[in-house]
Amino acid sequence: MDNKFSHFYQRSEDQRRAIIADAAHLDETELQLLKHRAETGDAKALIENYVTAYQLPEGVAVNLTLNGRTVVVPMVTEEPSVIAAASNGAKLASDAGGVTATVEPRLLMGQIVLQNVSVFASVDDWVALHRQQLLDVAAAAHPSLIARGGGPRRLRVRNLGDGFVSIDLFVDVQAAMGANMMNTMLEAVAGVVQSQLHPNTLFSILSNAADQSLATATVSIPVNHLATSQMAGKTVADRISAASQVAQLDPYRAVTHNKGIMNGVDAVVLAMGNDWRAIESAAHAYAVTNGQYRGLSQWQVTDDQLVGTLTLPLPVGTAGGATRVLPVAQVNQRMAQISDVSQLMAIVVAVGLVQNLAALKALVTTGIQQGHMKMQLRSLAMSVGAETPAEISAVTTSLTGKKDPSEAAAKRALQEFRMEKDD
Ligand code: NDP
Repeated sequence: MDNKFSHFYQRSEDQRRAIIADAAHLDETELQLLKHRAETGDAKALIENYVTAYQLPEGVAVNLTLNGRTVVVPMVTEEPSVIAAASNGAKLASDAGGVTATVEPRLLMGQIVLQNVSVFASVDDWVALHRQQLLDVAAAAHPSLIARGGGPRRLRVRNLGDGFVSIDLFVDVQAAMGANMMNTMLEAVAGVVQSQLHPNTLFSILSNAADQSLATATVSIPVNHLATSQMAGKTVADRISAASQVAQLDPYRAVTHNKGIMNGVDAVVLAMGNDWRAIESAAHAYAVTNGQYRGLSQWQVTDDQLVGTLTLPLPVGTAGGATRVLPVAQVNQRMAQISDVSQLMAIVVAVGLVQNLAALKALVTTGIQQGHMKMQLRSLAMSVGAETPAEISAVTTSLTGKKDPSEAAAKRALQEFRMEKDD
């Protein structure tokens, strides 16, 4: 093994970059880019082996009316069209009175898994008998949570088969996502289980399923609001409803349907400094609740209204994790005027719903590519070196309408624009 990387974590930032540059043959410009970005990087100690700050663009979705309040939604994404579509869907919803979101009282679940259990009932009975003792041990492991009004609430025991048993602990984690708090409590309880009940605990960790942390958004839009120059509003509404039905029937479509929802969800979750992998895994597990992977949202036409609903497990936090460490995440919370975690959950699920509305409407009317292409051409222009708004505009104008806008064509358009400018 290459020993250049030995004790890498103990090196200074400059040393790490130099080692990488040497190993990967980075040139001076590339090395300087890493260094330059690192100069304004936040929370360097948040991760290990830090070398630079990777930037993603942040924009805001506008036009969202949620529970009667106008919300500006910060979104971090690398995908063109996502924010435009969210704003577009939000406007359709706002013109019809806005999105309503409800948040259920939430609990996080964690598990202590035992192995080689021969008699399930012996564990089940013991936990029932020692319930209060175990809840007290969990509470004592994170007393500040109790002071905040949260803490362990209940226990459950499940027989997983093959000698595996899960002791599930449910905790009110208040405004945090709660992963670390939960894991601390679980390990404390596992210590008692191990010493008093069963010597063979396999592991203790939260479950990311988060099905006790649900938020639901609904919107009702008069069908005539959906009319396009080519299609009557009722036709558009019926086609959106049919597309939503396909996502209930066909897992292949459901995955794409849900990816569109997560375009909005992840962008907000990321902007708020939250763990988007946790949200992703919870959402996809929830999509398969009834044994088949299905679309997370549903759209139906009732009388003259298109009614949409989306329920998501949202184990997000407004405290803890990176939320208070990343300064821009703090500003973003303020931008969206979030004062408690339920509001964050409401915003995320609402954005998922309006994102889905905009995507479905485009899909069943003009097709997804028309709106996307404009933004994709901007990306293409930037990828070949267009920097100023004038250069980006010149390249996209030149490529618009071309059947197959290629990188070579974009480069040519940029060169031509620059040559004309120099003349
Ligand atoms: P923390 O470990 O940061 O714990 C929450 C912190 O928030 C505590 O320090 C708590 O303070 C503080 N806090 C301040 N105000 C509140 C409030 N109103 N309610 C609750 N807590 C408050 O974060 P989490 O436990 O939320 O864990 C989230 C992190 O864990 C994320 O970074 C995630 O990526 C990571 N993680 C995820 C895993 C997974 O998903 N499988 C596994 C392991 C980690 P005090 O101590 O005073 O109570």
